[in-house]
Amino acid sequence: MSECIFCKIVNKEVPSNIVYEDDLVVAFRDINPQAPVHILIVPKEHIPTLLDVTEENKHLISRAYMVAKEIAKKEGIDEKGYRIVTNCGKDGGQTVYHLHFHLLGGRFMTWPPG
Ligand code: AMP
Repeated sequence: MSECIFCKIVNKEVPSNIVYEDDLVVAFRDINPQAPVHILIVPKEHIPTLLDVTEENKHLISRAYMVAKEIAKKEGIDEKGYRIVTNCGKDGGQTVYHLHFHLLGGRFMTWPPG
């Protein structure tokens, strides 16, 4: 997956502002933040979209959500609340085809999304 920007971030081939890393996931600040806190949690394994999640790799989703919870506490957005978003495919607004979870917080967010 040499052309995937998130694989390059995971492999430290391009710089990023990493806030958390373990054996399965990396979390870094979004380059174009949509909220005061906007962090992307990505599995190290290259999984293009939610459609590619399988029995073998589904544990990465729970890890990402648990990590998001800890980061939310660290960033001080846990009490007021936050949003986790995964865009899937063209209509979902996905632009980077390496599964990721947006952790957004620090402001009130409206619903529904545009
Ligand atoms: P999505 O549109 O859901 O696929 O989200 C992709 C996200 O990746 C967008 O919010 C981008 O701003 C973000 N992004 C793209 N390239 C980088 C990068 N090199 N470092 C950090 N965030 C990035």
